[in-house]
Amino acid sequence: MRRILIGGNWKSNGDLNFIKNHMKSVINTLKFDTNKCEVVISPTTLHLELVRSLQDKESQVQISSQNVSAFPEGAYTGEVTARQLKDYGFNWTLIGHSERRQYFGDTNEVVGKKTKISLENGLSVIACIGERLEERESNKTMEVCLSQLEAIANATSDWKRVVIAYEPVWAIGTGKTASNEQAQEVHGQLRHWLSKSVSKEVADSVRILYGGSVTEQNANALINQPDIDGFLVGGASLKAGFKTIVDAYKNKKL
Ligand code: PEP
Repeated sequence: MRRILIGGNWKSNGDLNFIKNHMKSVINTLKFDTNKCEVVISPTTLHLELVRSLQDKESQVQISSQNVSAFPEGAYTGEVTARQLKDYGFNWTLIGHSERRQYFGDTNEVVGKKTKISLENGLSVIACIGERLEERESNKTMEVCLSQLEAIANATSDWKRVVIAYEPVWAIGTGKTASNEQAQEVHGQLRHWLSKSVSKEVADSVRILYGGSVTEQNANALINQPDIDGFLVGGASLKAGFKTIVDAYKNKKL
């Protein structure tokens, strides 16, 4: 059985006031069975420590950065390294989010470097892949997703600390969710590739999340696709409905 993972990507959102309220009214109220589900939220790097300090003692929610440096410590102004995150007690990072790929030059090569250095320094990673609309429309979905997955696989030394997030770019922040069938089709093919190219054991155990306009309304149906093991949630993770999305793990038929 693969443990469901629900991630909340806060992107560059939230000020002190919002974060204090959201932690109190939503995040600290999340209750889930940690044998079946884990929850990982990603505030900005600036707010990582603030979020940790606002967590209730009994909160089981984990905290992730949204990005990590591809380099070790040194003369790389503006970057936070994997070792620094781990040293500070943070155990997760997102890598290769489509916004990083689109605006900040995170190519497959960079994503590979970030994956490698994160794993070497003891972090777990949620590595994002996904096709753009024009790529889907020209039937390049799997070609694009598999080349992105291959770059991650080539950099991976420990699959137990890797989670893949399939996030079709056309579905991120647009309100256009992939249909259950569209999402399952890609997830199934990703798992098939892992089985052939890495091992059946890895394919059977690695979590593949879906991301792209997940809401309280569509979470239950999506979670019940056989190869969907949770979600990476953007906009809806900043709202009260995130609680309902987390609760969707209870409805997964195993
Ligand atoms: C994301 O940022 O990873 C994401 C999936 O955003 P949204 O849920 O808003 O589409």
